[in-house]
Amino acid sequence: MRKKHLKKAYAYIIVLSAVLLTAVMLLMNHVKQRLLSDVSINLTEIVTQNKDVITSKLMLEVNNLELVSKQLSERISFAGDSSDMKVKEMFLNYAERGIDDMLCYSDREGHAVYGSGEEASIAGRQYFLLALQGKANISERIISRLNGEDIFVISVPLNHEGEIIGTIQKQYMAKEMYDICSASLFSQQGSMYIINSEGYILINSEYEEQYNKESSNYYRMLFLDNPKVAKKLEMDIETKQEGFFEAQIGKERVFSAYTPIEEIHDWYLITSINTNAVMPNAVIVIKIFYGILFAVILFAVAMMMYLLLLKRKQSEELEKIAFVDEVTAGDTYTKFMINVQELFEQNPKGQFSMLVFDIDNFKYINAFYGFDKGDEILKCVYKLYRENMGKRECLARITADHFVAVLQDVSEDRLREIFCAEKNISGVKVYFSAGLYPIKDIKEGLGLMMDKANLASRRTKGRRHKGVGVYSTEYDKELAKNERIKREVEQAVSQGEIIPFFQPKVDIHTGKLAGAEALARWITSTGKLIPPDEFIPACEHTGTIDKIDWAIFDATLAFIKRSMEMGIQCVPISVNFSRTHLFDIGFSENLRQKMMQQGVPAKLIEVELTETIIFDNAENINRFIEELHEIGVKVSMDDFGSGYSSLHMLKDVNIDVLKIDRGFLKGTTNSKKQQAIFEAIAQMANKLELEVVVEGVETTENVELMKKVKYNVAQGYFYSRPVDAERFSTMYKEGTV
Ligand code: C2E
Ligand code: CA
Ligand code: CA
Repeated sequence: MRKKHLKKAYAYIIVLSAVLLTAVMLLMNHVKQRLLSDVSINLTEIVTQNKDVITSKLMLEVNNLELVSKQLSERISFAGDSSDMKVKEMFLNYAERGIDDMLCYSDREGHAVYGSGEEASIAGRQYFLLALQGKANISERIISRLNGEDIFVISVPLNHEGEIIGTIQKQYMAKEMYDICSASLFSQQGSMYIINSEGYILINSEYEEQYNKESSNYYRMLFLDNPKVAKKLEMDIETKQEGFFEAQIGKERVFSAYTPIEEIHDWYLITSINTNAVMPNAVIVIKIFYGILFAVILFAVAMMMYLLLLKRKQSEELEKIAFVDEVTAGDTYTKFMINVQELFEQNPKGQFSMLVFDIDNFKYINAFYGFDKGDEILKCVYKLYRENMGKRECLARITADHFVAVLQDVSEDRLREIFCAEKNISGVKVYFSAGLYPIKDIKEGLGLMMDKANLASRRTKGRRHKGVGVYSTEYDKELAKNERIKREVEQAVSQGEIIPFFQPKVDIHTGKLAGAEALARWITSTGKLIPPDEFIPACEHTGTIDKIDWAIFDATLAFIKRSMEMGIQCVPISVNFSRTHLFDIGFSENLRQKMMQQGVPAKLIEVELTETIIFDNAENINRFIEELHEIGVKVSMDDFGSGYSSLHMLKDVNIDVLKIDRGFLKGTTNSKKQQAIFEAIAQMANKLELEVVVEGVETTENVELMKKVKYNVAQGYFYSRPVDAERFSTMYKEGTV
């Protein structure tokens, strides 16, 4: 269950973070797009301006050369001779006059002559071929055939009478061309490239002395980190489009705008700028934003994890309270039920047996050695059996010294080994009574299985070396009888057949009525009276006992109310409540409301709790008692000395009245010993300021003994048996029995 919750919570965190991240990313993207479009507009403007400056400077150079070509052409016309020889002569003449070594004339075959008089062939050169086609143009960066230097060449056609008879070129040293093209850029962080359609960088804003054509391809440089952008650029340039892109070049991230320089064949201008230079603040803002976002998410996740952990710890603590037995530190019955459920689910076809066992005469161990020793023994017993059990077998303490287990191996040897031998547990000799029920159907219900095992155990009681009693189908009859009683009692309660009889408590010195106890009787429709021994034990395992208790309580309240109305001086009446009420949160409030409704003051009611409750957590009991005290009801401990209690425990439980069990007076021959015990109890009760009621007072000897050890209040046949309301009403009125 818990794991499922955790998984859900983790999924929640992940989804939430993802949604948050996506939202912020989208937002940031939007902001970025806006910034980008601004940058794109600005940069495109800059690149256009640069292009205009560069173009006009280059066109000036081209125009100058065209002027040279025109002048030469005029001279040829004037001379009336356009033979190559004549043209060459006139050119050299012209160049000498212009003192321009960089000028060059070529005939149609590519025989070129320079102003210096040197000659070379430029037949295959692109610039030459273009000029022959009538296109004035500028070459890419090439190596001079004359002197091996890096040069650019501007080339224009030479016309004569409408025909192209050759070309005129001018060479520019690479550096010269750089100077012409280096338009003043917007900042030092910007850079500029002129490339041709194949991507070769012709001019770069940083002049490079060493020019390696292969390593200077812009597409290739771009392609490395931005293949898509490079492809798009190539496409755009092919179709002479202008454009804008963002890309990573080396360590830098740049924005770039590009545009064709249409006036010059095959040239394109790209202007780039570092993103940080364009939007330094935006980048910082974005970084800070991402930082904060990250921190917020981290914090949220951490908080959620912390909350989850806290919750887990809390539920672990709660589980510990519910699942760990205080006395044995082992499993509680609640945990046992869960474990068994799991075990059954995992092995629906497995063979299991239910085993219950308890320690013989544990009450004497408690009385003799004290509670701490009793607890220690219980702890050792749990440990001993746990160690002897398989991993899949379950064990728990139910209450007091009663344990329950579900076993897989119930071979005779094993059972004899565990239960037959006398055990020495922390220095005390211990025997066990145990009952085994081989489970027939795992769907039968743990309650019924335990009833059956208990029945088997009960059958062994009173036998020496009894070992383990095994459930036999004969017992089914007894169970069926219990089941029947339970049902009949429930019906009896609803039909008002369960009524209280009252037994007086008498002050032995004055003979006056000191109080009374309400005791359940079942008067059937046929008028038959059934004593509680015959139906209460059967009801104690189910919730039926609660119904009986409340019925008796209600009838008692009604009785007191009637008596008060008759003007009787009422004394308190005690009502028995079983230990199951200990876990009923609304118990005292329920009690208070019922008393209020009937107008019965709290001082006329006493609650009797049987002493077996001491096996519940002392804190629980005291809280329960405290609540009753708060509404003004006294609490008496019933059957003191009959079972597990010891004088020590009186210190821990905050009761008002001690009812000494009738077993103390029964059939004792050793009156000295009896007297000693009585005296010890009297002293302790006195010290703790407890009222004492002695139960089962049947004889004058009993009364004499009480007088000797200074007890005052008796309840027993000597004074009166429990009587019905009518007869008790007379005693109540007269204040004596
Ligand atoms: P208890 O609370 O200890 O009640 C006293 C029992 O001792 C009564 O038995 C009473 O009849 C019997 N008794 C009184 N004086 C003498 C005497 O001098 N000699 C002998 N031998 N017995 C005497 P009863 O009425 O049969 O009740 C038996 C038990 O049933 C009660 O023991 C009590 O534990 C339980 N019980 C009775 N009514 C209720 C009830 O309304 N609710 C609950 N939870 N338990 C009840
Ligand atoms: Ca009682
Ligand atoms: Ca009693």
